Amino acid sequence: MYRLSEKAAAIDPYDPIEGIYRIRLDANESFLLPTESDREKMAQAVLDTALNRYPDPLAKEPVAAFSALYDVDPKLVTAGNGSDELISVILSTFLQKGERVLTVSPDFSMYRFYTAITENPCITLSKNDDLQIDVDQVIETIRREKIRLFIFSNPCNPTSLGLDRAAVRRLLTETEAMIVLDEAYMDFWDQSLLSEVEQYDNLIILRTASKALGLAALRLGFAVANERLTGIIRAAKSPYNVNALTQTVASIALRNPLYKEWYPELLVQSRQQLSEGFAQMAAKGYIQKLYPSCTNFVLIEVEDAPYFHRELLDFGIAVRCFGNNRLRITAGTETENKEVLSAILSIAKHRLEEQEGTL
Ligand SMILES: *Cc1c(COP(=O)(O)O)cnc(C)c1O
Repeated sequence: MYRLSEKAAAIDPYDPIEGIYRIRLDANESFLLPTESDREKMAQAVLDTALNRYPDPLAKEPVAAFSALYDVDPKLVTAGNGSDELISVILSTFLQKGERVLTVSPDFSMYRFYTAITENPCITLSKNDDLQIDVDQVIETIRREKIRLFIFSNPCNPTSLGLDRAAVRRLLTETEAMIVLDEAYMDFWDQSLLSEVEQYDNLIILRTASKALGLAALRLGFAVANERLTGIIRAAKSPYNVNALTQTVASIALRNPLYKEWYPELLVQSRQQLSEGFAQMAAKGYIQKLYPSCTNFVLIEVEDAPYFHRELLDFGIAVRCFGNNRLRITAGTETENKEVLSAILSIAKHRLEEQEGTL
C-alpha cells in the first residue's frame, strides 16, 4: 500500500463555505458586475478566442492594461492565475530549504498554508489586541530570527486595518528580508507602494483583479517588483499560467477606468453603511467592537461568534467567523447590508433576552 508522506497527509484544505445562501458576504467579493456593454464585448472576445492555441505566456495584453491603469512599467509586472498562485510561486522560488518565513496573525491564511507545502519554517507573530502590526517588533523579529521573507496583507484581511506607507518603508529599509506586500485591498485605500517599487531590491507587491475590480471568477493577479525580481518570477511560474479566456476578458475590464475609478468608491460607500450600522450597535452594547476599516469589509467583535455565524446561516446569510469572538462581513448591496445588520441586531437582542431569562 502506498504510504503518504507526513506532509501530504497533514494538508488542511482551504475551506470556503459551500452550500447555497441567499446572501453571500463571506468572501470579500464585489457585488458589482462589469457593465452590460463590457459584458457584451467580453462575450464577443470569448467567441473570437483561438481555443486550440496556448495562451500568451507573459499575458502581455492584461499586463499592459494593468500597467496603464495603475501607472507602472509593464516590465515590472507578472500576471498570475490569481495572486494566490503568485504567493505559491514566490515562496517556492525565493526560499531555499530551511530558510525562514515570518507571518503575522491574524492575516490571510494562505501564507502559512503555502509555507507548509514548501516546508519552510514559518514563525508567526501574534498581533496585539488592537490588531495592528507592531513594526518595531516585526523588524526586531526579522533580525533576531534571521527571517528571509516576510509576507503580509496591507490593508489586512481579515482585520480591515491598514499600515501607512511610512511604516512599510521602514520594513523595507531596516531589514534585509524579502518583503512580500499583498495589496489585494489597496484599491480601497491610498497607501500603496506601487509607485516606489523600483526603489527597493527586496519588495514584491501583489495586486488582484478579484476584489475591487470585481473579477474574482477570472482568477487574475499581478506581482510587481523590480526587473531583476520580475525576471525570476516570470522564469519560475508555469509557462501558460493565465488562460486565454481570462486574458482576453480581463483586458476589456482593465482597459475601462470605470472599475478602478468608480467601483471601489461604490464598495466603500456600501462598507460605510455597514460601519455606521455596527457603530450604533456597538454604542448600545449589542456588539462588543467595530474595527475601523480601509477595505470592502468590516470586522466586528461579538460574544460567541460561532453562535452568530450559525444563526446567520439560518437566515440564509453567509459571513466569515474567526475564532470565538470575531465576524468578518463583506460589504454588499444596500438591501443585503440592511438584512445582515438587522439579522445581527435581532440575534444579539435574542441572546441578551435569553441571558436575562437565566439570571
Ligand atoms: C482575496 C485575497 C487574495 C486572493 O486573490 P486572488 O487574486 O483571487 O487569488 C490575496 N490576498 C488577500 C489578502 C486576499 O484577501
